[in-house]
Amino acid sequence: MPILVHYSEIGTKGGNRPFFENKLVENIRKSLGARNSRRLYGKILVEAEDSKDNQRILQHIPGIAHFSPCRVVGPKLDEIRGAVLGAAKKSRAKTFKIESSRSDKAFAYNSLQMNNILGECVRTKTKKKVKLENPALTIFVEVDAKQAFVYTEKIRGIGGLPVGTAGKVVCLLSGGIDSPVAAYSLMKRGCEVIFVHFYNYDEKAKQAKKRKIEEIVKTLNKFQLKSRLYMIPFLELQAELVKHVPPRYRMLIYRRFMFKIAEEIMRSEGAKGFVTGDNIAQVASQTLENLNVIYEATRYPVFAPLIGMNKNEIIEIAEHIGTYKTSILPYEDCCTFLVAKHPETRATIEEIREMESVLEIESMIKDAMKRADVNAL
Ligand code: ATP
Ligand code: MG
Repeated sequence: MPILVHYSEIGTKGGNRPFFENKLVENIRKSLGARNSRRLYGKILVEAEDSKDNQRILQHIPGIAHFSPCRVVGPKLDEIRGAVLGAAKKSRAKTFKIESSRSDKAFAYNSLQMNNILGECVRTKTKKKVKLENPALTIFVEVDAKQAFVYTEKIRGIGGLPVGTAGKVVCLLSGGIDSPVAAYSLMKRGCEVIFVHFYNYDEKAKQAKKRKIEEIVKTLNKFQLKSRLYMIPFLELQAELVKHVPPRYRMLIYRRFMFKIAEEIMRSEGAKGFVTGDNIAQVASQTLENLNVIYEATRYPVFAPLIGMNKNEIIEIAEHIGTYKTSILPYEDCCTFLVAKHPETRATIEEIREMESVLEIESMIKDAMKRADVNAL
């Protein structure tokens, strides 16, 4: 049974609409390996097996509002009637309604007439009763100039916009709960996300430890298919910082360095902004004062989609997208390396700049980048 896909916000994109639609078709094709996906007027017909696996894949593709396994027949009343009756007979529901629509106004019947004719047919040929409010079965009929679609199920997608339509962003990905959720939020708005992770273990420990980070990225691949993950060594740089920066300011300076280093990746990838899992006042580095100090390190916009959410709301999404169980596995983030028990909560840019003035920032960035590696996942 083919699958009829309805998208969410693309319809409002005016002259850019074909661009958004083509991107969604491409993303669906790549995800399902379904070569026969076709753009129709306002929807996409996917010629793929209606299996649970395929349904799960479609449920995670940004841009899809909902989709339905459907029967496709000619735009003729008797063919539609046959398909509607077939769908009705397949169901054990005792009550039903018909919900028709036509995009081709040349079709001889309007939607109200179709509802009546098809409803009457089902009522007389089965034992089902018409019930307009909360029926056990709704049979949907959509007619356009070339064909008609009949279906009984609307499976919800995640909505938003197709990945690749909004440009690239660089996600600062920690091993925690928040940043993967933040990355997902921007994928849902059409961004392709490039991942950057800073680690402070040595090369020997790396293979075992980086698996957790890779697992998170792979889990997020169900939304954008493939990702690049930059792994940046941070241990030597931190050791250097520790010599010059008092414990209560270290976290802030670490995070400023992360932005400065990731800017290199931003430029080489042609990305246009950062995404972080920051959330106001969740930890000491996330007071408004400190966020000012941290974000001042970069001239690019920093998007923090979780900024006003509550922790339980974030966890709910993390569970929903499948990253939570990996995020809670033990993993020591480099942000905690030799920082004070009571870190500064109201740092000023002036004092931070002064501390940084004694550092060889350019060469520290270059050195970290030289030893960075990029993984295609
Ligand atoms: P998370 O759950 O995402 O780790 P958090 O609430 O624990 O966030 P912090 O650990 O202070 O807060 O990190 C704030 C943000 O800084 C993270 O969401 C992430 O974007 C970035 N960040 C922290 N540690 C790293 C790291 N090792 N590599 C890359 N980015 C990081
Ligand atoms: Mg963290």
